[in-house]
Amino acid sequence: KNEKRREENSSPKIGFSDVAGLEEVKEELGEIIDFLKNPEKYKAMGAKIPKGILLYGPPGTGKTLLAKAIAGETNSKFIHASGSEFVEKYVGVGAKRVRTLFEKARKESPSVIFIDEIDAIGAKRSLESNNEKDQTLNQLLIEMDGFNNDQTIIVIGATNRIDMLDEALLRPGRFDRNIYIGNPDINSRKEIFKVHLKNKPINPNINIEELAKKTHGMSGAHISNIANEAAILAVRKNKKIIDKEDFDEAIEKVIGGLERKNSHII
Ligand code: ATP
Repeated sequence: KNEKRREENSSPKIGFSDVAGLEEVKEELGEIIDFLKNPEKYKAMGAKIPKGILLYGPPGTGKTLLAKAIAGETNSKFIHASGSEFVEKYVGVGAKRVRTLFEKARKESPSVIFIDEIDAIGAKRSLESNNEKDQTLNQLLIEMDGFNNDQTIIVIGATNRIDMLDEALLRPGRFDRNIYIGNPDINSRKEIFKVHLKNKPINPNINIEELAKKTHGMSGAHISNIANEAAILAVRKNKKIIDKEDFDEAIEKVIGGLERKNSHII
C-alpha cells in the first residue's frame, strides 16, 4: 500500500476539469491556486497566506480528488498522508513522522500536503492525557505555525467528522478555512457521469439524465464505481459498447452493496 502512495505522490496529472460539479468550491479554491502560482504577489503586498484548508463531509465526494487537482493546477508536489499513519503506540513516533512530512514538503516546495482522516491525529484532546496522541497533534500545530510566507506550502486536511476535531486545529493560521463537500445533486451527478464515461464507448441511446436520477443519494465514488462496473459487464458479455442494461445492472449492484453495508450498521 505504501508503494502505491509513493507513486501517487509523484505529480498527479489531475486538474479541475477532472472534478465534476462543486463549482462554488472550485471558485473558493481559486484564491489558493493563485497563491500557489504567484506567491511573490502576495508577499510584496504583505498579505498573510492561508496555510490550511479543511475539506469535510461524507466519504467519496471528491475531497482527495480536489486536493490532487489543486496540486495539478499549480504544478505543486502532491504529498499524501493519512492521519492513521501517525497513530503510534510509542511516545514521540507520531510526532517524528509529522516532522518528516513537513521537512519533505519544505524541500519539495511548492507543495500541497494532503492529510486525509485528519481526525485520527486531530481529535479533541481528552482530559486524561494520552501522551503519544497529544504530542503528535502538538507537532502538527507547531509545524503549521512554523512555516511562513517564504514557503509555498498548503496543508489540506480531510475528514468525515469535523465535530471531532480539536479546536486548536481550527484557529487562525491553521485550518482556518473549512469547506463542506456534500453528496452531489442531480446536475452534479450528471457531470460526474460525463467525466467517468468520457473514455468509454457507450450506446448513444443512453440517457445520462436518467442515470443521474437513478443514483439519488450516491457519492461521486459510487458513480465512478457504476461506470466502471458497467464497462466490466460489457466486456464480460463480449460487447463492443456499454448498453443501458449494463448500467442498470451496475446500479443494482452498487445499491445492493449499499444495502448490505447498512444492514451491518443496524
Ligand atoms: P473519503 O472521505 O472516503 O476519503 P473523498 O471525498 O476523498 O473520500 P475521493 O477519493 O476524492 O473521495 O473520491 C473517490 C473517487 O470518486 C474519485 O477518485 C473519483 O473517481 C470519484 N469522484 C468523487 N467525486 C467526484 C467528482 N466531483 N467528480 C469526478 N469524480 C468524482
